[in-house]
Amino acid sequence: METHITRAIIDAYLRKLSDHLSVDVAVVGAGPSGLVAAGALARQGFRVAVFERQLAPGGGVWGGGMLFNEVAVESDVVPILEAFGIRAKPSGSELLTVDSVELASGLIFGAIQSGATVFNAITVDDVVVREDRVCGLVVNWSPVIRLQMHVDPVCVSARAVLDATGHQSEVVRLATTKGRIQLATESGGLAGERSMWAKRGEADTVRCTGRVAPGLYVSGMAACQVFGGFRMGPVFGGMLQSGRKVASLIAADLRAEGESQSTQDSPRNSAAM
Ligand SMILES: Cc1cc2nc3c(=O)[nH]c(=O)nc-3n(C[C@H](O)[C@H](O)[C@H](O)COP(=O)(O)OP(=O)(O)OC[C@H]3O[C@@H](n4cnc5c(N)ncnc54)[C@H](O)[C@@H]3O)c2cc1C
Repeated sequence: METHITRAIIDAYLRKLSDHLSVDVAVVGAGPSGLVAAGALARQGFRVAVFERQLAPGGGVWGGGMLFNEVAVESDVVPILEAFGIRAKPSGSELLTVDSVELASGLIFGAIQSGATVFNAITVDDVVVREDRVCGLVVNWSPVIRLQMHVDPVCVSARAVLDATGHQSEVVRLATTKGRIQLATESGGLAGERSMWAKRGEADTVRCTGRVAPGLYVSGMAACQVFGGFRMGPVFGGMLQSGRKVASLIAADLRAEGESQSTQDSPRNSAAM
């Protein structure tokens, strides 16, 4: 019996990992923006893998504001919440509130039920760059990295990589340092997040969301870090909208690439060559 249990776990995990060694979209970070993006892309039929360093996905949602486990959202994100089956309550102002545990667990469950696969306790340690395009990730077990064990990582290839790692924008940092990637920012490097301004910050999170280099996209707080947006107060509507926006940008780019690829591969073009 014990052997069967172990074999079932190992076989199922290895099948899952092996099915995601080459994906359409690799999302780094299972916070609110990454999970919304992962769910939206998976619902459209893309193969999506989410890599999360912590054991528990959910990023900065669980703790609400200063461990008060309620979060504030604007009413225009209700359709996003409804797509994940998450309930919001009136707060007596123009804002709504959501139980942060319901928000975190609802986003995780919804993203997975939509078809995204979450790999927890895995840290992204580097990017793969070919001809100035980010086309994959280098990953390792989080405990290996935390304990500084001398163990080589492995690689995953992706048509698009989303940096949803929050304030540190870790993937973009790796892309600019080790990958020598030039960013689509004014300086070509990270602009750096600005201090708190709730109203501007909410809008900035969405405005800054997008493609930052070929194959590389940013959402959530990482987007503010990269493009110099203001940080918002503990309001999560901008994060959810950012995830939705980046999903539609990535979907449009991947479809356009797919169409141009199939035009190049068409019999007429092959004959011309
Ligand atoms: C110092 C600090 C300040 C904050 N300030 C604000 C604020 O001003 N306003 C506000 O609304 N919220 C703030 N928050 C709360 C929270 O960060 C955000 O609101 C929200 O959770 C950000 O969502 P996100 O989608 O950008 O990613 P996050 O919720 O930050 O999630 C990012 C996820 O990426 C994972 N990750 C990071 N690096 C890697 C890697 N290399 N490999 C794999 N996984 C990785 C992390 O473990 C995390 O789960 C703050 C949090 C902290 C810690």
